[in-house]
Amino acid sequence: MPLKRLFRFARASLCEGWALRSCIIWCLAVLAWPAAAAQHCEGTQNIRLNQDVQLDPSLLAEFRALPPLKVLAVEAKPLAHYNADSGQYEGIGIDILCFVLSRIGVAFEIAAPDPSETLTDKFNLIAQGKADLFLPVSYVPERARQGLYSEEFARSYYAAIGRRDAAMNLRTVDDLAHYRVGYVPGASIERALRTRIPEDKLVPVERWADGAIFQAVQQGDIDLAIYNQNVFNEMRFAKRLFDLEIKQILYEYPRSYSFFFSRTPAHERLVSVLDQHLAVLDISASVTAHQDGERNFLQRYEAQRRQKTLLIAVSVVAGVLILTTSLVLRRHRRQLRLLKRRSKEFEHERRTLYEEKQYLETLSRTDPLTNVPNRRHFDDRAKIKYARHVNSDASLSLLIVDVDHFKLVNDTYGHATGDEYLRTIAQILKSALRQQDDVVARYGGEEFICLLSNTEPDEALEIAERMRRAVEKTRLPNLKASPPWVTVSIGLATLRNGDPGLQGLLERADEELYRAKQEGRNRVRSVLVDA
Ligand code: GH3
Ligand code: MG
Ligand code: MG
Repeated sequence: MPLKRLFRFARASLCEGWALRSCIIWCLAVLAWPAAAAQHCEGTQNIRLNQDVQLDPSLLAEFRALPPLKVLAVEAKPLAHYNADSGQYEGIGIDILCFVLSRIGVAFEIAAPDPSETLTDKFNLIAQGKADLFLPVSYVPERARQGLYSEEFARSYYAAIGRRDAAMNLRTVDDLAHYRVGYVPGASIERALRTRIPEDKLVPVERWADGAIFQAVQQGDIDLAIYNQNVFNEMRFAKRLFDLEIKQILYEYPRSYSFFFSRTPAHERLVSVLDQHLAVLDISASVTAHQDGERNFLQRYEAQRRQKTLLIAVSVVAGVLILTTSLVLRRHRRQLRLLKRRSKEFEHERRTLYEEKQYLETLSRTDPLTNVPNRRHFDDRAKIKYARHVNSDASLSLLIVDVDHFKLVNDTYGHATGDEYLRTIAQILKSALRQQDDVVARYGGEEFICLLSNTEPDEALEIAERMRRAVEKTRLPNLKASPPWVTVSIGLATLRNGDPGLQGLLERADEELYRAKQEGRNRVRSVLVDA
C-alpha cells in the first residue's frame, strides 16, 4: 500500500509523535488542495507591535513544525482583496496574517479565488477541516460551533445601499420592509433581515465578489443592497459605482471581523497566540495603505487622464501630420497631372506649329498651280548647287524649257485648259529626271527651269531631249499651232570649267532657248561653257 509506505517513510525520516499526524494530514491535503500561489508578504511592514509578546519556545517549536496553513479568503476590500494583476491577495487581514504567522514561523498559502464557491461552501470546508483558516469572517454565535474565532481585527457596520436618484425614507431598520432588499446568503445579518422584512421583499444574491448585488440595484431588480459599509466604500471607487450611495447605516448591526479556524488542538493554540498579538497590534499603517479607495481612484483617474491627454495629443499631431502629408501629396499629384497635361498640350502645340511652319514653308516654295517647286525654291537650291559645283570637277547643266505657242492654247481652249496643260507638262518634265537631287521648277508663265548637277554635257542633252520628246508624245492638242499639238523648246547650258556665275549660266541657257525658238521651235539647243 503506497499510503502505508508513505506513513512509514515519514515516521522514519521526518515525523515523530504529534508532528507525525500533522505531517500525514499535510501530505494528504496537498493532494486535494487547489493550486495556490505562494503569498508575498510585503504588507508585514504595515504592522507594528505596541508591546512585546512573549512566546513559549516549546510552542514555537510546535508551530514551526506545522504544515503551511490553507487559507480561504473572501473579496472584502480593505480587509482582503485579490489583485488579479499581481495574482496576490492583499488587505489589512493579509498584512496581520503575514506579520503574526511569520513571527511564529508558520507558513501559509491562499487558495486562488473560485467564483463558483459560495460563503456556505467555504464554511463547510473549514467545518470539515479541509481548509485551516478563513478570513475575514464576522462574528455569528452559531458559526462559533463550526470553527474557532480569533479576536476581532476590524469593525464595521452593515449599510443599505440604493440608487442616488431614488428618494427613500429610511429612519429605522423597520423602514427597510417597504423596499425590495438584496443580501448575500450566509451573511451574518441574514437572520435579522428575515425577522424584519417580509419574505417576498427579500432577494438573495449569491455572487457578491464581482459586485453582482450592486448591479442588481443599478438595474432596478432590487431597491437596496445590504452590504458591509467599509467594503462598499472601497468598491464604490474600485468599480465606479458613483450612481449608488449609502442610504442608511444599520448601527444596530455592527460587524466584527475575525480570523476563523477549523477546530483542531493545534489551531486552538494558534488562535490563542494570534489573540495575544491582536491585543497589542498597531495596524494603523495597514488601514491607511488599504482603506483609501478614494485616493487610489483619484490617482488612477489622474494617470488615466494624463494618458488620455497624451493619446489625444499624439492622435492630433499624427492626424495633422497625416492630413498635411496627404494634402501635400494631393497637391503634388495634382500639379504633376497639370504639368503632364500642359506638357502634352505644349507638345501638341509645338507639333502643330512645326507642321504649319513646314506647310507654309512648302507653300512658299511650291508653285500652287503645277505643284512643283517655284522660282524662289529654285533660286535658293541653285545658289547652293552652284557654289558646290565651283569647288568640284563635275559639270553643272541648266535647262530652260518654254512651251511653244502657248498663247494659242489659251486662245483656243481657254485659260483653264492652259492651266491643265501646264500641270501635265510639269509632271512630264519631272519624270524625265534621273537623280533625286535634280529639280524641275516653274520659272514663271509657261517656262520651267532645271539644274542638273554632276551631269556630263551629252547626258544633259539626252535628258533635255527626253523631256522634249515626252511632251510632244503626249499630243496635247494645240490646233492653231504647227504642229497642232503642244511642244517645248529647251535651252541648255553646261558649265564644265570656269565661274560665269549663276546669272551668267542662266543667260547662256536663255540665249540657247532663243536660238531654238528662232530655228523653228520643238527642239533643244545646247552650249558648253568652258572657261
Ligand atoms: P512662243 O512659242 O514664242 O513661246 O509663243 P508663246 O505664245 O508661248 O509665247 P508668249 O510669250 O507670246 O505667250 C505666253 C503665254 O503664256 C501668255 C500667257 O497668257 C500664257 N500664260 C502665262 N502664264 C500662264 C498661266 O499660268 N496659265 C495660263 N493658262 N496661261 C499662262
Ligand atoms: Mg515664254
Ligand atoms: Mg512660249
